[in-house]
Amino acid sequence: MYSQVTSKPIADILVIDDTPENLALLSQMLTERGYKVRSVTKGSTGLRGALAVPPDLILLDVKMPQMNGYEVCQKLKADARTQDIPVIFISALGDVLDKVKAFQVGGVDYITKPFQVEEVLARLQTHLTLCKLQNQLQAQNAKLQQEIKEKTAAEEKFAKAFRSCPNPIAIATLAEGRFVDVNSCFLAMSGYTQAEIIGHTIADIHLESAIAAYADIIKQSQEKGFVHNQEFQFRTKDGEIKTVLLSVELIELAGTPCTLSIMNDITEHKRLENEFISLVSHELRTPMTSMMGALDLLSSGQLGTLTEQGQQVLDIGIKNTERLIRLVNDILDLERMKSGKITMQQVKYNIVQLLTHAIETMKPMAKQAQINLSLEIANPQPINLWIDPDRILQTLTNLLSNAIKFSEPNQTIYVKADKQSDWLQLSVQDSGRGIPANKLQNIFERFQQVDASDSRQKGGTGLGLAICRHIIEQHNGKIWVESVLGKGSTFYVNLPLSYK
Ligand code: ADP
Repeated sequence: MYSQVTSKPIADILVIDDTPENLALLSQMLTERGYKVRSVTKGSTGLRGALAVPPDLILLDVKMPQMNGYEVCQKLKADARTQDIPVIFISALGDVLDKVKAFQVGGVDYITKPFQVEEVLARLQTHLTLCKLQNQLQAQNAKLQQEIKEKTAAEEKFAKAFRSCPNPIAIATLAEGRFVDVNSCFLAMSGYTQAEIIGHTIADIHLESAIAAYADIIKQSQEKGFVHNQEFQFRTKDGEIKTVLLSVELIELAGTPCTLSIMNDITEHKRLENEFISLVSHELRTPMTSMMGALDLLSSGQLGTLTEQGQQVLDIGIKNTERLIRLVNDILDLERMKSGKITMQQVKYNIVQLLTHAIETMKPMAKQAQINLSLEIANPQPINLWIDPDRILQTLTNLLSNAIKFSEPNQTIYVKADKQSDWLQLSVQDSGRGIPANKLQNIFERFQQVDASDSRQKGGTGLGLAICRHIIEQHNGKIWVESVLGKGSTFYVNLPLSYK
């Protein structure tokens, strides 16, 4: 016997009672209040119904022939599909209700006949609510457990990667650069023990110059969220300087902003590269100089006159040999500067005079490329600085030569000097092809060119800016570029006014 309501029922109630009058009464009472009621007169039928479609709650008569209410309840509680359904026992006034047994077999409550409508409804509602809350709690608990499991698995994965990574990794607080955790590879590279690192700051273990470079890397990672493969000088406990490629990501550790630094030690790689380059350069210089002499001799006509075509081929040979000699000289120059074999010969020098000199030197090249050079000095009084004039001139002519190479005919290059509170700022501004944003840092590295064909087409070596940077850093200055692709570039050189 089923009673139905048209709108969505409040809950699905199964009533098991062998007295048809009781069933009819309960069914009517509950259906009127919006419940869906299924009524059966036998315990076994009730069990089958509960298993087939589990109801939200069961009202169960205690006294029934064949299988009494306690037995039915026991069976319901023994099956996983029905064990969580709340069971309320029904007993007639004259019946002896064993309350203890009712609770022991899994009942949640009992009501006695004759029924008080409000009481039945109140108890029903209470247990339905309790059951609903319990289900919600269980679902939340299961979700939480799953989340914890996933998080633990992710953390374990990260911890394993952190520990076994063959690259040095360090986590430090963003605010102070205080080490929170480092992996064993970091300890092996740095020479420090865990106790000497954790809790100490980057300032405690680095050279002054590296602190500034690191601060710059942190600034970049704050702007972009990360820094990838930036060359960085790392000082070990023994004072050895290692060259590493540093990648930094910003992370949060227990609510504290931190940096995750992953390093790639390229010291040995660099040493071998430098050794190879300098060896090859030394070996090449002598034969190339002699080759240039031979080509010059041929070109002078002292060994006979060449045909016009022969002269053209010879000119190509001379041009390329000159480029190779320039390359070898630049490599050796940079190598000697880096190894400290060339020191800056500083004298007090008027920078205005030097700028004029640089412009005069580059005029022929500019004229040939139909480029105008313009010198602008904010305050045209002599500005005397302690500099190595030859090396600063080398820097300026290099910047001017690049600006000319990458400009179009009839464009103007502006050279400016601007005296600021602590610095003299020099700038070389062109309206040429510009430099893509992702190359603005790289081009100051050795052999870094925006376009692989630049050296061939423009005759460069890819070393000029690396040499410039070295010279300016030796003066405790700064060099950088700002550029808009297709609009032009401005190279800035800041020289300290107080440096001696
Ligand atoms: P190169 O000998 O190739 O000029 P540099 O180290 O002086 O070597 O410059 C490196 C690269 O930087 C150049 O090859 C070029 O791609 C880019 N570059 C330098 N100056 C400029 C500029 N003014 N405009 C556009 N690109 C430039």
